[in-house]
Amino acid sequence: MADSAETDWVSRFADEVISEAERRAPGKAIVCASGLSPSGPIHLGNLREVMTPHLVADEIRRRGLECVHLISWDDYDRFRRVPAGIDPSWADHIGKPLTSVPAPPGSRYANWAEHFKAPLVTALAELGVEYHAISQTAQYTSGAYREQILTAVRARATIDAVLSRYRSKQGDGAEEGGARGAYFPYKPYCDLCERDLTTVTNYDDETTELAYTCECGFGETVRLAEHDRGKLVWKVDWPMRWAYEGVVFEPSGVDHHSPGSAWIVGGQLVGEVFGGQQPIGPMYAFVGITGMAKMSSSKGGVPIPSDALEIMEAPLLRWLYARRKPAQSFKIAFDHEIQRLYDEWDSLGRKVAAGQAQPAELAAHRRAVSTAAGPLPVTPHPVAYRTLASVADITTGHAEQTLRILRDLDGVETLAEVRPRLDRARRWVELHLPADQRTRVRESPDQELLDSLGQAEREGLRLLADGLDDWTLEGLTALVYGVPKLQAGLPADAPATPELKTAQRAFFTLLYRLLVGRDTGPRLPTLLMAVGAGRVRKLVGA
Ligand SMILES: [Zn+2]
Repeated sequence: MADSAETDWVSRFADEVISEAERRAPGKAIVCASGLSPSGPIHLGNLREVMTPHLVADEIRRRGLECVHLISWDDYDRFRRVPAGIDPSWADHIGKPLTSVPAPPGSRYANWAEHFKAPLVTALAELGVEYHAISQTAQYTSGAYREQILTAVRARATIDAVLSRYRSKQGDGAEEGGARGAYFPYKPYCDLCERDLTTVTNYDDETTELAYTCECGFGETVRLAEHDRGKLVWKVDWPMRWAYEGVVFEPSGVDHHSPGSAWIVGGQLVGEVFGGQQPIGPMYAFVGITGMAKMSSSKGGVPIPSDALEIMEAPLLRWLYARRKPAQSFKIAFDHEIQRLYDEWDSLGRKVAAGQAQPAELAAHRRAVSTAAGPLPVTPHPVAYRTLASVADITTGHAEQTLRILRDLDGVETLAEVRPRLDRARRWVELHLPADQRTRVRESPDQELLDSLGQAEREGLRLLADGLDDWTLEGLTALVYGVPKLQAGLPADAPATPELKTAQRAFFTLLYRLLVGRDTGPRLPTLLMAVGAGRVRKLVGA
C-alpha cells in the first residue's frame, strides 16, 4: 500500500500526521481523536467528527503503523436543556452530568448519555470504524486528570489572561466560571444535588482546600487534590486532553474556529499550561441532508447515522465522506437523490473493476469498501438501487414476486444475491417515498379511460401488447420507445426529434394511467416486468 501515498486528502493528512507524530513522540502509537456529546441524538451531520479521523487513522494503519482513534464521549458535560418531546420534569436534572440524568422514558439504557450513545455505537460497528472509547465521566470520577486539574488551577491567572485577550471581542466569559478576578477553571458538581450550579468561594493553593456553595443551598469545603466530582471548563478541558492523550490529529467543526473559540484558545493553553501541542486539526464543513421534509417527525426530523444506514449500505455512506475533502460540504440524500448517488457509486465500481478509475477515485472507493481490518460486506449482485426501489414499491416487499421480477430483469437467482441492498431500498420506499408517490398497480382495467381513447392510441396499445414477447429489460425498453416510432412510420433506430419525444411522452403517460392510475411511475420497462405480461395485456385492453 506504500504506493497509495498522496493520492487523496486522506493520504496527505496521513503523511502529515505520521511525520508530526515521529517528531513529537517517536516510536509511540499515533493518536487521532474525535469528541462527541451524547446530550441528545447524535446527528448524521456530526458523523464527520468521527469519519474524518477514522479515515486518516485507517490510512495510517494500512501503512502498517500503530494508530489509535480515540472517541471521547463528553458524557460528564452538564445537561443543558430538556429537548422537545421529553417530560418537562426532566428540567430538575439541568446542571447534572449527562451520566447522572435518567434516560428518556421507556429507554432500556441506564442514563441519558448511554441512551444517545447506543445507536451511534451500533452504526460505527456497521461502518467498520475501529476506535477506543473514552468516557469523560469515568476519567474525571476516577481521578485520572487529578494532576492536570491541579496544574490548571495553579495556572488560573495565566488561563484568565489568555481568555481575556478574547473577552473584549466575545463580550463574555460567563462559561469560564464567572467574572474576571474570580476566574476559576474547575467547576464542582454539588455533592448534594449533583448539579453544577456551584460557585467556588475560596481556594487555598497550599492545601488545595476548595470551598463552594450551590444554588440549592448546600456548601462544603473539599480538598481539590482528592476531589473527583467536578470538571475543567470546556476551553481548558479540551487542550488538557490533547496534552494528556498526545493527540496528533483532531478535526473540528467550523463553529470551533472563530476568535476566542475553544480551538483558538486551546491552541495557546495546551502549550502554556499543559506543556503539550495542539493537534493537526482541519476544520470540517457542514454535512447537509436532503429529503428532510419527508422524514418521520417522531425523531424530531433530524436523522442520525443509523437512519442513513437503514436506507443505504455502509460502503456508500463511507464513500460520501471519503470522496470529499473535510473543507467541502456535501449532502446526504434521503429523497430521490439517493438513487442518483447509488448510480454514481455503481458507475465508479464498474470503472474500478475495469481498471479505469483515477487515483483519487480509486482511493475513495477503496476506503469505502474496506478498512485496514478487511473488506466490508457488499451486495454480491448489485442490481441498481433505483430498480430495487421500484420493485420494492410495486411488490410492496413481497418476496416471491420480487424474486420473479429480478430473475426476469437481471438473472437474479436468490434474494440473498441482492442483499443487503434490496433491504435498504425497501426501507427507503417504506420510510421516505411519500404515499402519493407510491405505485399501486390497478386491479382492473380503467374502462372509462379505455373507452375514451382514439384510434391511434388504441393502435399504440395493441402494438405494445403484441410486442411483449421479448421479455427482457432491453426488449421492453426498445418496445416502449419503439411503438411511437412505428406509429410515425419511422424505423426502430430513428433519432429522437422533438415531435417523436412528444409522442413518446404522451404514450408513456397513457401507459402509466392505465397501469397505475397516475401520470408517472417507476421506469416503464421495470414496471411492465413487475406487472407481468398477462396483466399488462388486460390493463391496456388488448
Ligand atoms: Zn446543589
